[in-house]
Amino acid sequence: MSAYSVETEALYQGEQIQGMELHPESIPCFFTTAFTMRGFQEVQQTYASKGYTYIRTRNPNRTALGEIVSCLEGGEETLIFASGMGAITSTLMALLEKGDHVICNANIYGETFGVMTEILGKCGVEVSFVDFQNLDDVVRAVRPETKLIYSEVFSNPTLVLADLKSLGEIAHQRGALLMVDNTFTSPVAIQPISFGADIVVNSLTKFLNGHSDAMGGAVTARKTLCAKIQSTAMLLGTPGEPFSAWLIQRGIQTAALRLPRQMHTAERLAKALAESPHVKKVYHPSLPGYPQRELADSMFGPNGYCAMLSFVVEEDLEKIDQFMLALRFPRYAPTLGGLHTTLSHPVTSSHMGVPDETRRKMGITPGMIRVSVGIEDPEDLTADFLQALEVFGA
Ligand code: PLP
Repeated sequence: MSAYSVETEALYQGEQIQGMELHPESIPCFFTTAFTMRGFQEVQQTYASKGYTYIRTRNPNRTALGEIVSCLEGGEETLIFASGMGAITSTLMALLEKGDHVICNANIYGETFGVMTEILGKCGVEVSFVDFQNLDDVVRAVRPETKLIYSEVFSNPTLVLADLKSLGEIAHQRGALLMVDNTFTSPVAIQPISFGADIVVNSLTKFLNGHSDAMGGAVTARKTLCAKIQSTAMLLGTPGEPFSAWLIQRGIQTAALRLPRQMHTAERLAKALAESPHVKKVYHPSLPGYPQRELADSMFGPNGYCAMLSFVVEEDLEKIDQFMLALRFPRYAPTLGGLHTTLSHPVTSSHMGVPDETRRKMGITPGMIRVSVGIEDPEDLTADFLQALEVFGA
């Protein structure tokens, strides 16, 4: 356990490149597909010490980035992938086999749902989707062959919180693993391993890189699990290339500065939206009426909860369009986690394929707008939303 803060320690991770005697202030990008060796002795030594050989196996930029993510997440080891989906699929393919059973939160990212249903189905792995708000249903879904419980920290876009500690206990009592996607929240807000998660996945494409210019994914877990995931990732070809890892390392070094501001601006904006006569409902854990207040307060610290929020206006697509056009700063973007505040409209994007009735049961109506809060001045951003909301009239 370090006497210094995670934020400071993370800045000094990844600077020691194995086999390199120079000490550059900023890590260079290792644009090379392989490292050459002279003679069999060096070949043997390099392979035996898991040194740098071929780009798909290991690369110094991935190693450096992995060390930073491990530090932020408080985990033993982190593997870096070409995308968040690469991280998720490689982990599931590595740890599950035919006949296994997974319990998955019913409300998860659409493409993760696709992997669970289409890809795991083809591999003979059965998945039960359960509403994780009811832990008794999770317990009831457990079978002798249950190997994994899977959840995101907050569901998208209604920000329902998963009780990670209880899910970890349910999993561990039955010898299963808890895998948590921390993309929406980030390790600056919460470290799922400290609540019992065995595996934490992050899409680095989002808040951790934070600059909307690179794609990547990370899996943080114990070394024994990482060894299995690494050998499967090698076969699937999912490890990320060095330039993305280099860019993401550059971005992640300011994550601990950016994210608390983004999360606190989200709180400020959520409060202003909740007070607006044009807004019917706001979803953000900072609001006093948040239904899981006690659970949220037991899981999150002073950095904040989450830089994502959703709000509901009149179900009038024309007016919603006018609202988006009236905003001076935020734009529509099918992503999240950047420096700029961006919007999405779940009914016409992420949840387009879900039948209206099912969507409404999930709380997702045509009047819902999802916001990823950026680093703008909180007052400017709030004023911009309030002036644009005037399109909804008196
Ligand atoms: N997990 C969550 C919660 C996401 O929102 C996303 C992408 O939006 C992913 C995983 C996948 O990440 P990537 O786009 O880097 O593959």
